[in-house]
Amino acid sequence: MEVLKYENKKYSNLIEFKFNTSTYNTFYSFDIETKNKENLIYEVNICTKNYNKNKNRIIRELRKSFSQFKNKDIILNFENVKELKVIKLIYGAILFAVDTSFVLNKNAIENIDGIEYKTIIKTNNYKELEKMLVEENIKYKYVSNSRYLQDGPPNIIDAECFCNFFIWKLNQNKALKDKIKIKVVEKEELEERGMDLMLSVNKGSSKPMKMLVMEYMGNTKNTIDYALVGKGIIMDSGGYSIKPKWSQIDMKFDMAGASIVANAILGAAELNSNKNIVAIAPLTENLVGPSASLVGDIYKSYNGKFVEITNTDAEGRLVLADAITYAIKEYGPTNIIDIATLTGVVKMAMGANYTGAFSNNEDLYNLFLEKSQEENEDIWRLPLQQECKELLKSNVADLKNATPDLTYGLSVAPAFLEEFIEGNNWLHLDIAGSSALHNKSTGVMVKSIINIIK
Ligand SMILES: [Zn+2]
Repeated sequence: MEVLKYENKKYSNLIEFKFNTSTYNTFYSFDIETKNKENLIYEVNICTKNYNKNKNRIIRELRKSFSQFKNKDIILNFENVKELKVIKLIYGAILFAVDTSFVLNKNAIENIDGIEYKTIIKTNNYKELEKMLVEENIKYKYVSNSRYLQDGPPNIIDAECFCNFFIWKLNQNKALKDKIKIKVVEKEELEERGMDLMLSVNKGSSKPMKMLVMEYMGNTKNTIDYALVGKGIIMDSGGYSIKPKWSQIDMKFDMAGASIVANAILGAAELNSNKNIVAIAPLTENLVGPSASLVGDIYKSYNGKFVEITNTDAEGRLVLADAITYAIKEYGPTNIIDIATLTGVVKMAMGANYTGAFSNNEDLYNLFLEKSQEENEDIWRLPLQQECKELLKSNVADLKNATPDLTYGLSVAPAFLEEFIEGNNWLHLDIAGSSALHNKSTGVMVKSIINIIK
């Protein structure tokens, strides 16, 4: 998409959206249209009273209204909007709405970077807005890429295709390619390293698992500021702890975390981040099959702990655990952020609007909270509870991967992950509820993560 400054010349046959803010009670309206000589003008009225309370509703309404203007050249008139944060919210909602999304039909796959169209910005202070608009465009490009991968079917966007997508993306963009080091850790290497916890999830699949690793060095220090680890379960049937049929519907989104971290690092690189970052995405299906892991199996993790499998559907924490150990062994990062569609309990507790956040470090949590608020993405802090450690004790191994006891239900999965954090600064984001809505991915947290690592 091309963003242009409004010039004093004739723009014919364009649709213009004139935004107004007010403190009247109606929080949003999109129904008044007028026609001047050249263009059709829609007036969009946004109430800024109780802005923080209403902003999610405003975002939803804007996305709905603008989805009908996909791939059209438009004029956005911000002359009557004073607050930069409101302009950012409107602009972001529009970019989200006009994204191309994954559709596979007889007209073939749509061009992922979108059909070229123009957005002309009419404002009295373009100079002030320009930096923000350019940055939003970059962020939303990666939100869009992330959603595209998540919406894609698991038989097409499998581990190999996922990796090839990023190799292809970097080959398309020379400037970005020079900044990012990309490697695919193949199954054989994972075996040699003894990452058996991760590999156990792959045992039921006919497609060998892969782990995508991308590095970006934005400063000359020898340390990694952020290691991002994203759960990449291409499709989660639950394995032998199989999910009921209707619970499998959204399980193509179980690779959302992988898609988010891989796109976030590209976004940060394109914004010339001054941080050193690594993104790690373990990718596999979790299926049943003659060799699939069994309830009762014991596997040794990459950091040497024996884990009894009590639930093959609690597989996300297994791939994350070994990927986190990989991050620690290879990079010794200052901060670890993992993101995953991890648990149904978080989905039940938080619904679709909030991402659950767990952290062992106040500074890291508070910084991320601030960064996510700037992006209008809501997170809610949930507790790490030491009682869960008791529940995860095994009679035959160091620990088990799950427990039917939901007394401390929300905190069991992060308590398991904490066993692999080795005291590092850590933020765990559970997007089980927020990653998809009505069977469409949201690309949530791409922007917030870019914002903290940029
Ligand atoms: Zn699962």
